[in-house]
Amino acid sequence: MTGPSTPVLLHNGLLIDGTGGEPVTDGAVLIEDGFIRWAGPSGELRLPALPAPARRIDVHGHTILPGFIDCHVHMAAPGGALSHAELAAMPASLRIFLAAPRMKLTLDAGVTTARDLGGADAGHREAVESGLLPGPRLLVAVAMLTPTGGHGDFRAATDNGENDPVMGHLADGPTECRRAVREVLRKGADCVKVAATGGVWSPTDHPDDDGFLEDEIRTITEIAAGHRGTKVAAHAQGRGGILNAVRAGVASVEHGYAIDDEAIDLMLERGTFLVPTLTTANTDPDPQKVAAWAYEKKKHWQSVARRHIPHAITRGVRVAMGTDCGIAEHGTNLRELAYLVDCGMTPMGAIRAGTSEAAELLGLAHEIGTLEAGKRADVVVARGNPLAGITALGEPANIRLVMKDGVVFKDLDGRVA
Ligand SMILES: [Zn+2]
Repeated sequence: MTGPSTPVLLHNGLLIDGTGGEPVTDGAVLIEDGFIRWAGPSGELRLPALPAPARRIDVHGHTILPGFIDCHVHMAAPGGALSHAELAAMPASLRIFLAAPRMKLTLDAGVTTARDLGGADAGHREAVESGLLPGPRLLVAVAMLTPTGGHGDFRAATDNGENDPVMGHLADGPTECRRAVREVLRKGADCVKVAATGGVWSPTDHPDDDGFLEDEIRTITEIAAGHRGTKVAAHAQGRGGILNAVRAGVASVEHGYAIDDEAIDLMLERGTFLVPTLTTANTDPDPQKVAAWAYEKKKHWQSVARRHIPHAITRGVRVAMGTDCGIAEHGTNLRELAYLVDCGMTPMGAIRAGTSEAAELLGLAHEIGTLEAGKRADVVVARGNPLAGITALGEPANIRLVMKDGVVFKDLDGRVA
């Protein structure tokens, strides 16, 4: 790690600043005290903007981008086939230790901010914030709020006891929902996650099943909004649950696989984001590793997503990048960009979804998501030109330099170290 003391000038690279504006060949970014002081064409940089002792780092042949933002991860989950029974049997401390290398992998993939939608508590955020662990800046939901038998209820059919509180916080009816949302806020949640439908991996429900009903979700969004505007993200895959969640005022529909025109109209009207988690949707289930029922469900919902998500993108629903890494393999986060392009986005649109649009969804657009003067110095230097080949960003070896708050966490070419 290199501290933020010496000003650094990255120059001679292709600059894509995250705003969606024209890329700049021979772009430059000046970083000082953890913030971006200046960004633009190298030729326009004039003293006294450039402090005399600044270290000049030539990044020819590379692209300078904002640090990426993944709006949907689970650091507590292993990536790949998820066995809830195994997770439930694991000592809590081991679950937390296992999250540390996953956070590092995520940062190395070019993700400098991540929203954890269930499983990671405020301690994960604080461990990163304090410098104890390298990782992306975290926003945590602590646990998913779920109705009995819903997507976050992982008890076996014969079990009448407590649900694992890390996996899902049970609540039924508006009164219990009030208490549940206050409970996760008390534990330091930055955002709230609700189960608006069943899911692919939960054994006793289905993506077409409703989770919380509209009145339950509305109660949750109202309480959350009253806590400094905390936003609610809804796990919503089937059509009915997507509509319930959007009508109840959530900030984002997560997955949204069966999104249709009625939901799209409402989302456009309200500015609701879609986080399509295509990395997970496109991960083929391994028939050797997953149960037959899970295999069938997964294949079916993959095809639903492939039919519906491109239509939502074509119609201009706001999209923020999220992967569900933890269900998908950790560190593969930026593969999502190519999947978004496959669904009809331009490469520049996909980059915006992973930077400025994601920052908007997280309520952090004033701090991160673009390379503009005054923003935090979250910067990625990637090999090649992603506008000519977006898939390259999905390969962590092409992410040569990662800086967060001006501190260098990855520097494969030894440019700064
Ligand atoms: Zn998830």
